[in-house]
Amino acid sequence: MSNIAFSYSPLTGRVIFGAGCLGLLAEEIGKLGYRRALVLCTPQQREQAERVATLLGSQAVGVCDRAAMHVPIEVAREAIAEAARLRADCAVAIGGGSTVGLGKAIALESSIPVVAIPTTYAGSEVTPIYGITEGGLKKTGRDIRVLPRLVIYDPHLTLSLPDRLGITSGINAIAHAVEALYAVDGNPVTSLMAEEGIRALANGLPKIHADPADLEARTQCLYGAWLCGSVLGATSMALHHKLCHTLGGTFNLPHAETHTIVLPHAVAFNRSATPEAMSRIERALVCKDAATGLWDLAKACSAPLALRDIGMPQEGIARAVDLALQKPYANPSPINRIGLTELLSKAWAGERPSEAG
Ligand code: NAD
Repeated sequence: MSNIAFSYSPLTGRVIFGAGCLGLLAEEIGKLGYRRALVLCTPQQREQAERVATLLGSQAVGVCDRAAMHVPIEVAREAIAEAARLRADCAVAIGGGSTVGLGKAIALESSIPVVAIPTTYAGSEVTPIYGITEGGLKKTGRDIRVLPRLVIYDPHLTLSLPDRLGITSGINAIAHAVEALYAVDGNPVTSLMAEEGIRALANGLPKIHADPADLEARTQCLYGAWLCGSVLGATSMALHHKLCHTLGGTFNLPHAETHTIVLPHAVAFNRSATPEAMSRIERALVCKDAATGLWDLAKACSAPLALRDIGMPQEGIARAVDLALQKPYANPSPINRIGLTELLSKAWAGERPSEAG
């Protein structure tokens, strides 16, 4: 009989963290031996990308500003061709999960390594997970080639994050940590990181909501995002991520907002099966009940609370339940139609979950 308590393969990749550390980019890229960087961004972040290209000087060969939500295959093909035409030897992605995702699509196809400069709290920069959308269907997978070799976390870059995106992106990160706490393949180290990640974000988010220029709070949030992304990359997600994936794909709902709304209800659903995870969340949030604590955090930061407010039709609840019941992820509480319908109905209406009792 085996007596292995857990197994864990920490993911490698260099991380540089701190206000102003973007200034080290050229030096750090040089250390890795890269000479021809293609800078990636969305059209909205062209200015930040131009700054990165300027910092790289002769080490940059171009800027591609076509990154878009969910990595459309056409955009990925275009960027791969551009990287080949320019003989790029690395892709430097500055932006959120969508831009890092484009870098990953290039890495998957052409083995050009990715350097990530995250400007949201999504966490993709520390995971080997990729997603590409073709014909309306998002295909996701894991491949170590897409894990960025270098991540530069500079909180200055998050100062321009619009309030709603910053808050929902931060709660999206918390969702990774919450599910890592009850993941089938979690371990004591990922649990430490997850709890600390939730603590950092729960502390920082209300502060950046009150004062978007609070650099210390921005630093705390980015630190939390790193921890939460790291545990997303190391463990398998459960019902919450399955539901958000289904809702986002079926009703074209915004990624981070969907996570923000569903999370407290998914936690209430799993509450009785995961007492240790609940204690850790409650300790991190300094609250008595994890589900209502998460809902109260979202409300205090003026985040959206109802799926109906972000474009989900009420009749979509039954469809989403059907889809979520097909090929479900491993989940602590058994999944059934009645429970999922209740969960999604509450999330649709924006109700506060009931407290543990
Ligand atoms: P995003 O990357 O789609 O960015 C949203 C918008 O905000 C974009 O227009 C972007 O240019 C802008 N933006 C980003 N940072 C900014 C800043 N600092 N200042 C001003 N504008 C800024 O949003 P996201 O929430 O970071 O990423 C969502 C996507 O990432 C989804 O497709 C999701 O599936 C994916 N994701 C993947 C992983 C993974 O491990 N593969 C993890 C988390 C999220």
